[in-house]
Amino acid sequence: MIPRFFRTIAFRLTLWYAGIFSVSSCVVFILFYFLATQVIVNQMDQELLEKAGFFSTIIQRKGMTGANNLAVLEAQAAGEKKIFFRLLYPNGQVFASSHMAYWSSIQIHQASLESLLKTRQHVFKTQDVQLKHKGNSVFKARILYDFVAPEVVLQTGLAMDTYDSFLGAYKRIFGLSMGFVVIVSTLFGWFLSKKALSGVDTITTTVKKISGSTLDERVFETGNEDELDYLAKTFNEMLDRIQALIKSIHEMSDNIAHDLKSPVTRIRGFAELALIQQDTMEEYRSMAANTIEESDRLLDMINTMLVISKVDAGQGEFVFERLDLSRMIKGACELYLPLAEDTNIHFSYEVEDSITVYADRRMIQRAFSNLVDNAFKYTDPGESVSVVLKKGSQECIHIIVEDTGIGIDPGERESIFQRFYRTDRSRTKQGSGLGLSLARTIARAHHGDITVTGNNTKGSVFLLTLPHGNFGVI
Ligand code: ADP
Repeated sequence: MIPRFFRTIAFRLTLWYAGIFSVSSCVVFILFYFLATQVIVNQMDQELLEKAGFFSTIIQRKGMTGANNLAVLEAQAAGEKKIFFRLLYPNGQVFASSHMAYWSSIQIHQASLESLLKTRQHVFKTQDVQLKHKGNSVFKARILYDFVAPEVVLQTGLAMDTYDSFLGAYKRIFGLSMGFVVIVSTLFGWFLSKKALSGVDTITTTVKKISGSTLDERVFETGNEDELDYLAKTFNEMLDRIQALIKSIHEMSDNIAHDLKSPVTRIRGFAELALIQQDTMEEYRSMAANTIEESDRLLDMINTMLVISKVDAGQGEFVFERLDLSRMIKGACELYLPLAEDTNIHFSYEVEDSITVYADRRMIQRAFSNLVDNAFKYTDPGESVSVVLKKGSQECIHIIVEDTGIGIDPGERESIFQRFYRTDRSRTKQGSGLGLSLARTIARAHHGDITVTGNNTKGSVFLLTLPHGNFGVI
């Protein structure tokens, strides 16, 4: 089990930071090392070539004896541990050299000699030199093979002590610097990641404080408009929504309790009466009928709630089909004519022909009849109710149900779509407060909507829209 600290983002960021920084420093060091050694070797090569040029000149002027003397003198002047000279024939036979005690392990490198003979181009070679008298310790030397006269080859070598000392110093600096880089980059990475993640800590602290009873708490928004500020904003928006949801659940459970209580109380009353009174069979029948009626209303409410929940959760059992909306609305309106006559309400309808939609017939019928039922229910005798079906703008279908009834206060026009919400002025009429909620849920499941506005004079105008496309006009 990895300890929690090693799984934190701060730790991982620090590791990445230190890792990237150290690897890049390492790459820079290595690059610099190659460049610097290249410069040193180039300088040595230059020096060796100058010596070879010098030998050529001397051979031309003073012959082989001059060259022989030059080899000894040059080596003595520069230091016999620093440089050596050997003059040889192209077959590799040495005929003159400087003092070679220090360089005894240096042989003629056949491959280099052959390459020189073949290309007649000077050849450089870096070789290890063993010091037999110093416990076989090894140092590096840069060796040049070059023609200094037509049949004379010069083998000259320069101890790479500058190179070696540079390498030693460089290794020490590299070790120290890398240690420093690792420590500093770890500290710096830790500091940076802690600073960058400090906002997350604030959010975590706030979130810890938030429990069911302290949903009022909000995460501090810095206003920097960075990722963490955006996270804080999104988090606060989520809390707002959760709070609103919990509030609506509280309200809904209050409403459910209230609205279910009355019919249950009435049913219980009927049953109690039947128990204590000794009435005629006729009266028992009437009590049973009342009980059935109340139970039906109760069942209807429960069923409606179930349908709303199912559709809300996307589990509504819709059967989409090509639906002749004009015909359906006309047929439904005709059914309301007797009711209009009974209630003395002026009822008119205007239905545009040939409007077809792709929708669930039963559901659309349910939503539509709820709007018209309400219009009749909340309109007094002598007033009027009208229905219009037409193509609206952008090929939307508009179903308008208008009445001159009791109307709805502007402040309540959104609330009436909540489950169980009923306006005060409508309480004289029977109702559950669920019909509009279901109607809107159905409309939205068809990618449409229901809205309400006030009538010019009095009453309300309900607008049911069904958009075109798969769920709209065909
Ligand atoms: P209800 O069964 O109470 O009618 P609805 O969900 O259909 O339930 O309507 C919710 C509330 O909206 C009603 O109780 C009423 O207060 C208001 N309302 C709906 N339609 C109308 C209307 N045409 N005129 C006035 N108020 C209405």
